[in-house]
Amino acid sequence: MSTSADTSVAIHTTYEPVIGLEVHVQLLTASKIFCSCSTRFGAPPNTNVCPVCLGMPGALPVLNRKAVEFATRAAMALNCRINETSIFARKNYFYPDLPKGYQISQYDKPLAEHGYIEVPASKTEARIEKLRTENRELRTGKRIGITRVHLEEDAGKSLHEGFPGSDEKTAIDLNRTGVPLIEIVSEPDIATPDEAYEYLTRLKEIILYTGVSDCNMEEGSLRCDANVSVRPRGQKELGTKAEIKNVNSFRFIREALVYEIARQIEVIDGGGKIVQETRLYNSHEGKTYSMRSKEQAHDYRYFHEPDLLPLVVDEKWKAEIAKTLPELPEARRARFVHEFGVTEYDAQVLTVSKALADQFEAAAKAAKNPKRVANLVQSELMGRLKARGSEIRGAEIEHSPISMTGVAASADLVESGAISGKMLKDLYDLCFERNQDFPEVYDEEGRPQQSSDTSALEKIIDEIVAANPKQLEQYRAGKKTMIGFFVGQVMKASKGQANPQLVNELLTRKLD
Ligand SMILES: [Zn+2]
Repeated sequence: MSTSADTSVAIHTTYEPVIGLEVHVQLLTASKIFCSCSTRFGAPPNTNVCPVCLGMPGALPVLNRKAVEFATRAAMALNCRINETSIFARKNYFYPDLPKGYQISQYDKPLAEHGYIEVPASKTEARIEKLRTENRELRTGKRIGITRVHLEEDAGKSLHEGFPGSDEKTAIDLNRTGVPLIEIVSEPDIATPDEAYEYLTRLKEIILYTGVSDCNMEEGSLRCDANVSVRPRGQKELGTKAEIKNVNSFRFIREALVYEIARQIEVIDGGGKIVQETRLYNSHEGKTYSMRSKEQAHDYRYFHEPDLLPLVVDEKWKAEIAKTLPELPEARRARFVHEFGVTEYDAQVLTVSKALADQFEAAAKAAKNPKRVANLVQSELMGRLKARGSEIRGAEIEHSPISMTGVAASADLVESGAISGKMLKDLYDLCFERNQDFPEVYDEEGRPQQSSDTSALEKIIDEIVAANPKQLEQYRAGKKTMIGFFVGQVMKASKGQANPQLVNELLTRKLD
């Protein structure tokens, strides 16, 4: 999150970028949106096709009920208002991967509108705000509007490599044609590349929680286009925008935006004019290139799809779908902080996926002391993961050798006094060394127990006290904090196996 913060602050005090994002998300239905063909990824080319998705004359589309439910659930999770009636429309254009010559989408009456996502205000934006308004308080959150969420079908795919003769020919795979998508269009509320990155991260997180998509960017289940323009700060009117298409990671989108904003400002500062165009991002060079200008841009000649009835999602259906909405990441984070006493940062890490959050919650609730589980995750697990060089963000914690069940098991052992904190640390180290979960390592180590054997401990204490007459003298002279020294020595002598509480008791009795 620290890409270009300083340079952008300088730039952005004169110019204000305006960014809007269009995200396509593939819905996880078993069959396509208007026919019963499979949506399975990776099938041999052109095997998941039928007259409907091949666009044969006379074939009629039938809407997939599940696709509507998934789209509605996603739109609800994005705080949208669901329109009771929405209309499918034909978006007409010619392209080799679009056999019908049009794509069925929604245009003037989309499924859902007026949603939003809360993102933490980017540092850059907060600093600009502070500079401009001399507002002492940094803004902590920002609401990015969602204009609309609509349903549409995907087009096919042109293949340029990986088949015989690919050096001179392009092949077409129509398996993807008719796969259900939602398009999520944001308001131009995004002010910096960092904010765009945050918006996308939150969006993906929310969609993953709803379970309607796997959001796999490599397989094309989540795709993003960005519209970006700049204008002098304070100007109401928007500048001319460029559209950046086909960027395949959130990081590249941020980089592409950083480059594009700087490019536009340079053009304007040099007395030039921005032309409305579509640009592609080359991640190797870190630059955007013009793909086509507005003169070549499409006019899609939308009209209502005559082969489909208006889509009606009535109150009853809406209520049924609303029941399938899970607790969303933001709410869950707040609850974890409140219920388990974890920090906001750790709540963020623990809720990064629904699966992880479920595991943590189940482990914490099954353990004798849920807070201890949360504390161990914070103090012992995160530190070790960090030390191992993983950036604690995203899926990293999911690669931890110690599972949440393992953390819960270890927490219970400490809770019951069976092992000491020191022993737990050593066992965790072994787990990381061997890449094994806690219960396995604990068994392999012969299920060690901290020593509560009073006579053995007393013997050690006697030896330690005898060997340190100076410290004993200080203690007896009133320096009671010396007890810490003796506890430490005894723990060391017992190789960390002694129960510290018991050592403390025995020592106090002995020294006084
Ligand atoms: Zn089909």
